[in-house]
Amino acid sequence: MAELPILTWPDTRLASCCMPVEFACRGLGSDLLSLVQDMFDTMYAAPGRGLAAPQVGVLKRLFVMDCGWKGAAGHTDDEGATPMVMINPKIQWVCKETVPYHEGCLSIPGVLTEVYRPEEIRVRWQDQDGIEREGAFSGFEARCIQHEMDHLEGRITFDHLLPEARIDAEAQYRAAREDTR
Ligand code: ZN
Repeated sequence: MAELPILTWPDTRLASCCMPVEFACRGLGSDLLSLVQDMFDTMYAAPGRGLAAPQVGVLKRLFVMDCGWKGAAGHTDDEGATPMVMINPKIQWVCKETVPYHEGCLSIPGVLTEVYRPEEIRVRWQDQDGIEREGAFSGFEARCIQHEMDHLEGRITFDHLLPEARIDAEAQYRAAREDTR
């Protein structure tokens, strides 16, 4: 079990567009496989339900998530756990309806930001063996995937806000950080 430090905004690595992951003939190389394991450990310990590679300083197109998991930090074998790794994900389709939700982010601790997103999506990605997968997602899973995919483009929740709302959110974030010092 290895927990990695999670970068917090405004670290410039969170504003970087990530590079595609290249597969060797037998899936991910051992360095990336151990990165995925460490990312799960880090996400569960945080605790959170999604973590993208750039949040731990690796500028590659992959993220881990577990929207079913409700356990406390460190309990990764809880009932309902649905760990997923998405590598080189691409959105294939989104529905027209967008819905708001107050999203948290492990890189923006202490602040929830209201973001509108399509509530149903279809995604293609590669799994750890490099196999192409495709699936439809809705509700919280669809939101989590879109949030993590934003990280791969160097986008955070604040980037969805209008200028005035963003100023408020950034001020709230600074205040929250000062409280924890
Ligand atoms: Zn995030």
